Amino acid sequence: MIEPIFFGRGAAFYPAEGNTNAYFRRGEELFFLDFGEAAFAHAAPMLDRKDYHRATVLLTHLHADHAGSLPSLCSYMAMVLHMPLRIVHPSPAVLDFLRITGISPSCYEWLPALPAGAAVSAAAYPVRHANDMACFGYVLSDGSDAIYFSGDAHEPPEAVLHAFLEGKISRLYHDTASHESNGHCYYRTLCNAIPPERRKDVFCMHLDGDYEELYQQLGFSVVQV
Ligand SMILES: [Zn+2]
Ligand SMILES: [Zn+2]
Repeated sequence: MIEPIFFGRGAAFYPAEGNTNAYFRRGEELFFLDFGEAAFAHAAPMLDRKDYHRATVLLTHLHADHAGSLPSLCSYMAMVLHMPLRIVHPSPAVLDFLRITGISPSCYEWLPALPAGAAVSAAAYPVRHANDMACFGYVLSDGSDAIYFSGDAHEPPEAVLHAFLEGKISRLYHDTASHESNGHCYYRTLCNAIPPERRKDVFCMHLDGDYEELYQQLGFSVVQV
């Protein structure tokens, strides 16, 4: 079972709830789902324990609440812990981002996709979020359990939605907005897409205000930190 543990569950402009970033362990490997501006402060004590042999960031996109402290993580892993970070992101734009923030390519390994044979599989799905940036959600699977982590997205990809409704994906962790938006998923979009009997397996995240009760009343789960 893949159970992400969340550092935060807030939207970019709702810092009271932190960044919607998470991590999970799989054997000796540590996986981060995004690494926003607030993530490094949460992750540093865990990183210092060095009870893992590799750390990987699965990056959905480059907005600051999803990648803002990635440069700090790269340099800390390389220079202090001597364990270069693995970064998975389909777009090479992440290389420019790291270069202009002063991170040498020797500090990290970039992969457009997680290789076959990794502790989990991670399939990236392009999602509609920003016009000037490639954005992705990930289906993560360990062979017995599959979940979807949306990053920021206007709606779940059709293929992901079908797989969820057919039971091939057990839980969706999805961006949920309180208002209509070009880049985020209005909660009524989720209401239309997800029948009431499956809503408890949809975890609302990236909250833009105090809407936990509303989403729960509609039958959805809400990410807890
Ligand atoms: Zn965001
Ligand atoms: Zn974003």
